[in-house]
Amino acid sequence: MSEHEFKRALGYANSAFDLLKRSGIPPYPQFYELLFTYATGVNPTLNNRINSIFRAGDTPSANLAETLYNEFLKSDVNDRMSTVSERMHARIEAVHEAIDGAMITANAYSGSLQTASGDLARDISPDAMKALADRLLTETRHMQDTNASLEEKLAASRDDIASLQRDLDDVRRESMLDPLTKIANRKSFDEGMETAIAEANETGAPLCLMIIDIDHFKSFNDTYGHQTGDQVLRLVAMTLKSNIKGKDLAARYGGEEFVAILPSTDLEGAIIVAENIRKAIQAKELLKRSTNEKLGRITASFGIASYRSDDTTGSLIERADRCLYAAKRAGRNRVFSENQLGELQANLTGASAA
Ligand code: GH3
Ligand code: MG
Ligand code: MG
Repeated sequence: MSEHEFKRALGYANSAFDLLKRSGIPPYPQFYELLFTYATGVNPTLNNRINSIFRAGDTPSANLAETLYNEFLKSDVNDRMSTVSERMHARIEAVHEAIDGAMITANAYSGSLQTASGDLARDISPDAMKALADRLLTETRHMQDTNASLEEKLAASRDDIASLQRDLDDVRRESMLDPLTKIANRKSFDEGMETAIAEANETGAPLCLMIIDIDHFKSFNDTYGHQTGDQVLRLVAMTLKSNIKGKDLAARYGGEEFVAILPSTDLEGAIIVAENIRKAIQAKELLKRSTNEKLGRITASFGIASYRSDDTTGSLIERADRCLYAAKRAGRNRVFSENQLGELQANLTGASAA
């Protein structure tokens, strides 16, 4: 993480804490997340709501914070995860109960058998023998019934557990996707980077990381509204995804920033991929869905860094980020790679030495 990014995050954190304190809201993780999100401003609809509360002279109460958290941040995935886990728990409980019940019957049955074998060892009258046989028959039937019901319960559990397993797989898949754009989220990106770095170390093949940031997206949102902004994010995500292939991984890094992991790709190759994506984004003419109103075009800037053997995910991102900011400074709608960053620095040093 760059020092710049660290300071920015710390600023958001302080501001979130201030608001919590001022409003007397307990700093539970979910309320902290809510006000941290507010401080970043990434969710304008949430910010509008909170701002209107402040404007009315109120402060958000813990109750209101809870409502806002549920509406804006609580993810379906968490909900579904707890439903699945509750169902799993209930299922396991039912299996335990069925087994306990069956064991009680089995123990009682084995007790009866023992008593009966004791009785048989003695000389017994034909009447007593008949009574014993009747008793054993009844208990055997009871044992059979219990076994049949246990089998039924276990079969039901097996079906239910199989369906829970499928739900769990769905939840797991969803938890790796960004809900808005349906491409990989930050968590999948982190995992993807670990795998890609391990592979690059093992095979010595090159590996590039690309960061993409939409240009002037704040003003796009301000002009056309957040929902239209969201559509654009989906469009960019799809454009990115359709221009990479094979083992490449495209992910939403946060807000209006995307990343792509490009294994077995050197800087030259990565620049070609980035240029294709850049042109494809620029070529899209945006139309407002509801009205077909023309919204012009958007552009994006790109930073590309290539893996070095002592890199971590963090250090690689930091270099790609520096390239991205160089692309922004150089006028946006362009690709900037580490090579160019090196040249730029060499020129600057040359210029200051001259
Ligand atoms: P630059 O060219 O320097 O990148 O300018 P910018 O306006 O794109 O950058 P800035 O970081 O100032 O603003 C990013 C904006 O992205 C802020 C916010 O309005 C918007 N944004 C972030 N996340 C979302 C989102 O999930 N949906 C929408 N619609 N907008 C978002
Ligand atoms: Mg940005
Ligand atoms: Mg931007």
